[in-house]
Amino acid sequence: MTVRTRIAPSPTGDPHVGTAYIALFNLCFARQQGGQFILRIEDTDRLRSTAESEQMILDSLRWLGLEWDEGPDVGGPHGPYRQSERGDIYVEYARQLLDAGHAFKCYRTSEELDALREERKAAGQHLALKPDDLALPEEEVARREREGWPHVVRMKVPTDGTCVVEDMLRGTIEVDWAQVDAQILLKSDGMPTYHLANVVDDHLMGITHVLRGEEWINSAPKHQLLYEYFGWPMPALCHMPLLRNPDKSKLSKRKNPTSINYYRRMGFLPQAVANYLGRMGWSMPDEREKFTLDEMMAHFDIQRVSLGGPVFDLQKLTWLNGLYIREDLDDDALLEALKTWAFNDAYVREILPQVRPRVETLSEVMPLAGHFFSGLPSIDEDSFAQVKLERESLLKLLQFLVWRFEAVPAWNKEALLGEVKALSAHFELKMKDFLAPVFIAITGSSSSTSVMDAMAILGSDMTRARLRHAIEVLGGVSKKQTKRFEKEFREL
Ligand code: GLU
Repeated sequence: MTVRTRIAPSPTGDPHVGTAYIALFNLCFARQQGGQFILRIEDTDRLRSTAESEQMILDSLRWLGLEWDEGPDVGGPHGPYRQSERGDIYVEYARQLLDAGHAFKCYRTSEELDALREERKAAGQHLALKPDDLALPEEEVARREREGWPHVVRMKVPTDGTCVVEDMLRGTIEVDWAQVDAQILLKSDGMPTYHLANVVDDHLMGITHVLRGEEWINSAPKHQLLYEYFGWPMPALCHMPLLRNPDKSKLSKRKNPTSINYYRRMGFLPQAVANYLGRMGWSMPDEREKFTLDEMMAHFDIQRVSLGGPVFDLQKLTWLNGLYIREDLDDDALLEALKTWAFNDAYVREILPQVRPRVETLSEVMPLAGHFFSGLPSIDEDSFAQVKLERESLLKLLQFLVWRFEAVPAWNKEALLGEVKALSAHFELKMKDFLAPVFIAITGSSSSTSVMDAMAILGSDMTRARLRHAIEVLGGVSKKQTKRFEKEFREL
C-alpha cells in the first residue's frame, strides 16, 4: 500500500500557522514511508472562500518548502482538487445514500428546527436532532416536495449506544451517539457540507492516513458511519494536538500573529519556521532542536508526537531563526535572503511613490521609509505624548481598530479608509486626529510617509501586530476594560 496523506485547507482567510503545521506533519509522515502528499482545497463554503486566500495558502506552504505531489495548481490523476469543481460527484454520492436508505430529505424550516431544539433544551435533553425528531407526516413531506420547498439531505444516525473510533495517537475514542446530529450532507443549494465532501474525496483520492487537528475529533463518528454506509475502507485517523499560546489557550490571532504572512514579513526564514513547526509536539530521536525538513522527513515517527498542547512561542522561534542566520547563512546566502525578503524590485517599487514627494536626496529615503523594512517599531509611552486623548480613549481607539481590521476581507487602501472613517465618526474625531496615534503605532514616528498607504503596503498582520504592540507599550488593556470595550464595539 502506498501511503497517501493530504492537507485540506478551507480558503477562508489568512494562511494560518496551524495549517502549515498539519501540512508539515502529513508531508513528513508520507515521505518517511515513500508515500505521497496531496493538497485539496475545501471551498464548499462559497460565501467565505476566496481565490486570494487560496493563493496565499499555496504561496505560504510553498514558501515553507512543503511540496505536494497533487493539487489544484499541479494537477494529478484524482482531480479536480478543488471541491467547488466537484459538485456533481457529491450529488451522486448523496443520491446513493438516499437510495440505500442511509440518508433522507429534510424539509424542516429553520424556525421549526429552532423550536425542536428549544423543546429538547427545556426537557433537559441533548440538543442533537435525530431522524425521528425531524420526521414529518408523510403527506406533509409530499406537500412540501410538491410545492418545491427548499430541503437538505441528512444522514441517518443511531439514537443511542457508543461509537468507537480508533486514533493513531489517542487509541480508542468513544463518543455517545446521543450527541451526534443527523448531519446535513447536502445543503439546500445542492452544495455538500464538509462531512460529505471530505469523506467522498478522501476515498476517491486514495487517502490512507488522515492527520488533522484535534478539533475534528467530534466529526470522526459521522465520517466513520459514512464510510460504513458506502462500504469503503476508512483511512487511519490521527488527531494532532492544537497549537497553543504560551498561556496554554488555543493559538488565536487575538493573542499572537497566526498568519504565515506575518512571519514572512517579519523576516523569519522559511527553514527556521518549518523547523520550529516540526518541534510542535514532536522531537527528533536525538532531541536536537535544529533540523532540516529533509532530516525531519527521514526520521519522522508519528508515535513521537506528544499530545500535551504544543506551545507556539514567538521568542523561541526568534531564537531559532537567529541560529539559522548566524550558523547557516554565509554572506551570499544572507544577501539572497534579504533580497527575497524585502530588498527586491517588486517591494521597493511599492514604496517609491511614498518617498518620491518627500525627499530631496536619496540618503533621506532610508530614515523616512525604514518602517517598511522593520518589524515592531521602538516606541514607548512617551512616543504618544503629543496625542491629545486620554489613556482610556487612546487604548480604545487602537483596540477598536485592531478588531475592525481583523474582519477586513480584502486588504486594500479603500477598505482601510472605510474602517478608519467609520471609527473616527464613532469617536467624534477628525480623521487627522484619529490617525495621529495610529501614525505613531505604525511608522514609529510622528512624521513619515502616509500611514494609510503604509498600512495597505505592510499588510493586515504586520499592521495589526504594530497596533497591538502600541497597546502593549501603553500599558495594555485590562480584562475589565476589554469587557467594556467589547460591549461598546458590538453596538457599533
Ligand atoms: N477543511 C478542513 C479544514 O479547514 C479540513 C479538515 C480535515 O482535515 O478533515 O481544516
